[in-house]
Amino acid sequence: MSRQSLKIGWLYPDLMSIYGDRGNVIVLQQRSEWREIETKVLPLTLGSTAEELAACDLIFMGGAQDRQQRIVADDIQNKAGTLKKMIDDGVPGLYICGAYQFLGKYYKEADGTIINGLDILDLYTESPGESEKRLIGNTLAISDLLQAPLVGFENHGGRTYLGPRVNPLAQIKKGFGNNGLDGTEGAIYRQSIGTYFHGPILPKNPQLADFLLQKALEHKYQSEVRLEPLDDSLSDQARFIIAKRLGVEL
Ligand code: GLN
Repeated sequence: MSRQSLKIGWLYPDLMSIYGDRGNVIVLQQRSEWREIETKVLPLTLGSTAEELAACDLIFMGGAQDRQQRIVADDIQNKAGTLKKMIDDGVPGLYICGAYQFLGKYYKEADGTIINGLDILDLYTESPGESEKRLIGNTLAISDLLQAPLVGFENHGGRTYLGPRVNPLAQIKKGFGNNGLDGTEGAIYRQSIGTYFHGPILPKNPQLADFLLQKALEHKYQSEVRLEPLDDSLSDQARFIIAKRLGVEL
């Protein structure tokens, strides 16, 4: 039998990738390789086509400063229809911070400038401006999806509010999450995950990487997939230590 393979589309690697977001792609590749699943990473930056995006089995897009989000804004609108179709169809993806904000209706910057979103997920984001502090720090949230703690690092001015057609990814135990008010963190819709957790999130929480890989293989091959378990004892221990350091009882 020929080896299974996945094409990972990495949106705007040159513009949207901060606080170690690149590590997420490395984890997706490495965990695939350990299981003899071939991966190809396709960088999709300004000028890449919707057809190139449509050929991908898994999408990743990292965070950025507002300035880079403004640069990306027009180009990503050219891909909005394709990305919406893929997300609705169940193509899995991970969208961090600024990328997560793009999936919603809009992101309002601190000075009131509106960056239009792709309106794929039922959410919007507003930055309250200089009067209020940025939401920065180490985080821990309990994921509804995985029934497990997720740890990360957040740094965002935007506050995201979820509508009724999208579920939170997790419930915050330490940190701010979506908006610092309602205790929610991130969003999940179909197999797509939006989150404020940098860190990067996947090396710290590899079970989330496996969720994405499993869903990508199932979507591509249209059959149930059981991934070979890997030894995650080191990252399990690291999460446990971080929880302790953050004063969260697991
Ligand atoms: N520019 C956005 C904000 O500050 C996103 C930041 C990020 O991606 N880390 O809210």
